[in-house]
Amino acid sequence: MKGTVLGIEGTAWNLSTAIVNEKDVISEATDTYSPPSGGIHPREAAQHHAKYASAMIRKALEDAKGKGVRPSDIDAISFSQGPGLGACLRTVATAARMLAITLDVPLVGVNHCLAHVEVGRWKTPADDPVTLYVSGANSQVLAYRMGRYRVFGETLDIGLGNALDKFARSAGLSHPGGPKIEQLARQSKNYIPMPYVVKGMDLSFSGLSTAATEALKRHSIEDVCYSLQENAFAMVVEVTERALAHTEKNEVLLAGGVGANTRLREMLAIMCEDRGASFYVPEKRFMGDNGAMIAYLGLLMYGAGDTLKIEDSHVDPNFRPDGVDVSWRE
Ligand code: AMP
Ligand code: MG
Repeated sequence: MKGTVLGIEGTAWNLSTAIVNEKDVISEATDTYSPPSGGIHPREAAQHHAKYASAMIRKALEDAKGKGVRPSDIDAISFSQGPGLGACLRTVATAARMLAITLDVPLVGVNHCLAHVEVGRWKTPADDPVTLYVSGANSQVLAYRMGRYRVFGETLDIGLGNALDKFARSAGLSHPGGPKIEQLARQSKNYIPMPYVVKGMDLSFSGLSTAATEALKRHSIEDVCYSLQENAFAMVVEVTERALAHTEKNEVLLAGGVGANTRLREMLAIMCEDRGASFYVPEKRFMGDNGAMIAYLGLLMYGAGDTLKIEDSHVDPNFRPDGVDVSWRE
């Protein structure tokens, strides 16, 4: 898959543009919406993206020029078509359509979850992994089988990151809560029993988050953070392990912002070692939401001729990864 693609990510709080070719990321420009208080407000996040889209596109184009890549070298524009916040998706899609029309190149609609998987396959030695994708809004265990990425397990309510953020907010910690919970959890080894909810291969985090908030009335915040992490992470590791056993694959790839957590990595590493599987974690810049992953999957799809007509480029806030016919593998 030869070519140069400019990709735009903006499913939630990160607006990020990047230009990639088959060798590497040529340029990337990101601006993050951070709520003054509370969680992400969809309309405010979308307004943020509208305000910064042109500046981030210009910056990516200008930095690329410095490396000898001109706007006329761009073969396609890709964008996150979903899943994500509707208002944010529509803003980014509008920018992508305009750019594709202006540069007179094809448009590529990318599934955000699959972009996390593919950038991991690009930037680590992982070839055919079971992927644990844990972010603010998403928690899924994905693996490729016969032309599609199947969802082997997923959350039935909120994402793991949102569960952490929700608890953090109730404890008076600022957004995002994940890193603060990790810090506090390090200061305890005192486990308090908490809900552990795995239903078949699926997960539920909202009861755990609420139970952690309740537990604050009786226990120290360090003990609660520690116990919340132990349960939430053990739940996702259990489902990942079962997906490994079921698919008979021997690699695990970690993706999504929650993947920054050292304790989660440690638990996954132990499970993989026990099973003789390899465990891969991409560099931090490719773990959370980033434009490079959208540009890269855009490049793979462009190479496969998998482009969109403008009139078919509507966004889908509930875009499922297992609904995508994978044009770019095998
Ligand atoms: P994303 O949606 O992929 O951008 O990831 C954002 C989510 O990752 C938020 O819910 C954060 O709280 C969470 N997060 C970031 N760093 C950490 C960490 N060190 N431990 C746990 N969660 C984290
Ligand atoms: Mg994401």
